Amino acid sequence: MLRLNEVTLPLDHPEEDLKAAVLARLQIPEQDLLGFNIFRRGHDARRKSAILLVYTLDVEVRDEEALLRRFQGVANIGRTPDMEYRFVAQAPASFGGKRPVVIGTGPCGIFAGLILAQMGFKPIILERGKAVRERTQDTWGLWRKRVLQPESNVQFGEGGAGTFSDGKLYSQIKDPKHYGRKVLAEFVKAYAPPEILYVSKPHIGTFRLVKMVQAMRATTESFGGEFRFQSKVVDLNIEDGRIRGVVLEGGEVIDTDHVVLAVGHSARDTFQMLYDRGVYVEAKPFSIGFRAEHPQSLIDKARFGKFAGHPLLGAADYKLVHHASNGRTVYSFCMCPGGTVVAATSEPNRVVTNGMSQYSRNERNANSGIVVGITPAVDYPGHPLAGIDFQRALESRAFELGGGNYDAPGQLVGDFIAGRPSTEFGSVLPSYKPGVHLGDLAPSLPEYAIEAMREAFPAFDRQIRGYAMHDAVLTGVETRTSSPVRVKRQDNFQSMNVKGLFPAGEGAGYAGGIFSAAVDGIKVAEAVALSLVGREDAQ
Ligand code: FAD
Repeated sequence: MLRLNEVTLPLDHPEEDLKAAVLARLQIPEQDLLGFNIFRRGHDARRKSAILLVYTLDVEVRDEEALLRRFQGVANIGRTPDMEYRFVAQAPASFGGKRPVVIGTGPCGIFAGLILAQMGFKPIILERGKAVRERTQDTWGLWRKRVLQPESNVQFGEGGAGTFSDGKLYSQIKDPKHYGRKVLAEFVKAYAPPEILYVSKPHIGTFRLVKMVQAMRATTESFGGEFRFQSKVVDLNIEDGRIRGVVLEGGEVIDTDHVVLAVGHSARDTFQMLYDRGVYVEAKPFSIGFRAEHPQSLIDKARFGKFAGHPLLGAADYKLVHHASNGRTVYSFCMCPGGTVVAATSEPNRVVTNGMSQYSRNERNANSGIVVGITPAVDYPGHPLAGIDFQRALESRAFELGGGNYDAPGQLVGDFIAGRPSTEFGSVLPSYKPGVHLGDLAPSLPEYAIEAMREAFPAFDRQIRGYAMHDAVLTGVETRTSSPVRVKRQDNFQSMNVKGLFPAGEGAGYAGGIFSAAVDGIKVAEAVALSLVGREDAQ
């Protein structure tokens, strides 16, 4: 197969133009073209009046080698890479050794568990929260009735933090081994929409994520994996610098020599336990800010002009960055087109915002985190876990500013820029549940962050006209943008100082988002498997 990149055609091109474009690019007659399929489809909206579809195509031709010779060195024509996933090891049929343990069922833990199971190593997968159906009810409990379940919420439970999300599946990670293809293929097998295999910015949406997570559990179980919910790991047994087992709340001990630690960025008690046990942990940068809500129609119009609402384009997204004069960088984070802002705390009497959407992305508002980067050396120095205290203080203050009942504190963008409290909503109604308490957001974050964001909104307005509109709504606080700690690992994926412990995913500081966490899960599963069969040197 040949791969053609950057084949561009007008947005509303007739289907047969694609074939004509292939023939033109390869300069071959029709009879030499055996077939082709779309590997990826994106769009280029830099010129709003002439939006282009941009294709990557895999093409079957009569004499592939001759064409490869003819186009040698020509950009955007080459051999289709082999993207098939191959297991690095297989458990012996008689595998009866200690089973590997995976802690966490977010995308990282799900993939670590799935791959280990597919290789025959029968992992035990432990999750502090509940199975996804029950978890969904508990999560809605906070949004509808202001009742938080500290072990079953947006952050904790089957599926991990991304279950109630937009399900965006793109990432900037380098992926020379094409692990991402395996991730997407497994998602599709588990009922994700097949188009995620070829659209350039795939997303799944909350309802489908829930079904998908259940289907992936069933597949893992069919290969001998075992899931245990409401099974919080509260301690590790470490002997002579080697992991020997995990201890569950309630006292049960599971003996094991291999533990994948995929606990996500909100497992603050688990980070404390790791620190107390002497596992090497260091502070890492993350970001803080607010969620901003605008009418989706404003974003669509700004990005797509007359093509706003076109079915192939869907609801428009955006990515914004501003380098403020006080040295801080302000940027958009986890933008959710046509979605809702959600209450995302896992701890009582704290308020945290985030965003989600359904597959259709047809809610009235676009929302995005607008956040400011912070670093341990400058903003929370002195202790590896100081970032957690910093987050907690902001989340508690947000709870108070919101009125102490899980409402989020909010302010209109116009008032925020002008530095005066808001008293009533205008044309944009916020989607955050249980509710938004209007006032002044300035006391909710450090002054440098407020200053940088006040400067950023007018700058963003120059990129998306209307972005600094008076009535757009801000809700706070966005603090769980990534992990405040890194559980550092060596090149063999094992902890710096505890053999057999494999820190993984977002919580350990090795991923940011669903896709990269899933990819990291695969990498770590491979490292565990090689260690189990005594081939650690093969990594
Ligand atoms: P997590 O998904 O956080 O999973 C960790 C799991 O470990 C949890 O289920 C937790 O209960 C469990 N756990 C923790 N401690 C223990 C313990 N001691 N014992 C047993 N189990 C434990 N990313 C995207 O790419 N696209 C999006 O659209 C997107 N939207 C998001 C929307 C929301 C509302 C949120 C909260 C996040 C969103 N994210 C999104 C981020 C994404 O969810 C995370 O990057 C991703 O889930 C990280 O995966 P993970 O497996 O490393 O950790």
